[in-house]
Amino acid sequence: MILKFLGGVRTVTGSCFYIECNNLKLLVECGMFQGEVAEEINKARFEFSPEEIDYIFITHAHLDHSGMLPKIVKEGFKGRVITTSATKDLLEILLYDSAHIQESDAEWLTRKAQRAGKPPVIPLYTTEDVMDVMPLIDVRNYGEVFHIGNSIKYRFLDAGHILGSGTLELWFQDSSKEKKVVFSGDIGKKGNPIVKDPLSPKEADFIVMESTYGNRLHKSLKESTNELIDGIKTTIKKGGNVYLPSFAVGRTQDILYILNNLVREKRLYNINVYLDSPLAQEATKVYLSHPECFDEEAEKLFSTQDYSNSIKLHFVESAQGSISLNKIKSGIIVIAGSGMCEGGRIRHHLKHNLWRPECSIIFVGFQAKGTLGRKIIDGAKMVHILGEEIAVKASIYTINGFSAHADQAELIEWLSFFKNSPEVFIVHGEEDVSIAFSNIVNERFGFKTYVPEKGEMFIL
Ligand SMILES: [Zn+2]
Ligand SMILES: [Zn+2]
Repeated sequence: MILKFLGGVRTVTGSCFYIECNNLKLLVECGMFQGEVAEEINKARFEFSPEEIDYIFITHAHLDHSGMLPKIVKEGFKGRVITTSATKDLLEILLYDSAHIQESDAEWLTRKAQRAGKPPVIPLYTTEDVMDVMPLIDVRNYGEVFHIGNSIKYRFLDAGHILGSGTLELWFQDSSKEKKVVFSGDIGKKGNPIVKDPLSPKEADFIVMESTYGNRLHKSLKESTNELIDGIKTTIKKGGNVYLPSFAVGRTQDILYILNNLVREKRLYNINVYLDSPLAQEATKVYLSHPECFDEEAEKLFSTQDYSNSIKLHFVESAQGSISLNKIKSGIIVIAGSGMCEGGRIRHHLKHNLWRPECSIIFVGFQAKGTLGRKIIDGAKMVHILGEEIAVKASIYTINGFSAHADQAELIEWLSFFKNSPEVFIVHGEEDVSIAFSNIVNERFGFKTYVPEKGEMFIL
């Protein structure tokens, strides 16, 4: 088998692994690059012919693993995309949302280009391209082994990261011997709300493993929950509102679940919560339609939902509804995207409330360098939002324990279940983090480790 690392190496985004094996060409992940030079890389030609790829495996719906599917289909891919049922449903909303963003960005840039006498800007892909992706997706249950011809077998295990997320086990024939490679996907945190805990395979010859938090330990969920309650109560007492920038898929549902639990446990009164993100609303509906992915606790809670004993949740649909939230000056929680405040409705809430000392902004997700969210948590006194200078006077909370990713200790625990000595390729982490984690794995287990470069190829 030939394994080539095309993305998601020495960085966290753009996951894409190319495989040639027994006359088949496969991809594991077809992810989008995000961040500073992402646009260039996403626009570049694929390093293979899309029409020659037979199968694409997707471990979960996050765009850094799936966001290039419409582009590969647009450029000639005619094979099958294989993933779990919940991932397919999440892909449908995330890919359409991504296409809308591509289209409106291109429209805006085209107007600008035309004024400068330049040609129009073509979007990376369009909603029509997403329409062409959906019929190509085949869904598979966790735990069941499936075959591609007589030479390749595969199975998804629950990765416990977001709804539908999987770890992919792939068996292939090498001369007369069967070998196995495991793609970890993004590994979830144990005890995460809603989804089950991650499962670790028991053996492999090779592992391609994520290392997002390979250098860090998270605070416990309990500690983080206490910080969240403290932030909310202090703000409400001061007469302000809480604004919570959140990723639409995963984090938002976790936070809603945690808030509901707090009301049930009588640690929080049944506060008004406004979910001001159409994408997050769609994602929440997908979550509710996949109870097979819930852990026991969530299953119990959802089956005995007592609405007198939960948060008062309001879905804000229209932009007008979002704007009119500005009239409510105190006592509410507003959850809006985007998670790093780079776009979406959160920006206008920040414009109207970041300068109010009685309000709070509670960050519950990773804030990448260069984003508005990062500037605020790094202590900027003044920020630029929607064409205005806004003073940062609100209280800023950064709560890290709600991450959907395993921390260093949990990644090591995940590896400790392997009974043999696999070779491990460390991917999906900032370069220094992946290298540090690679050394730890090597020292701790004696496994041979590699931190591949983009474009590097291995024969397994
Ligand atoms: Zn992910
Ligand atoms: Zn990821």
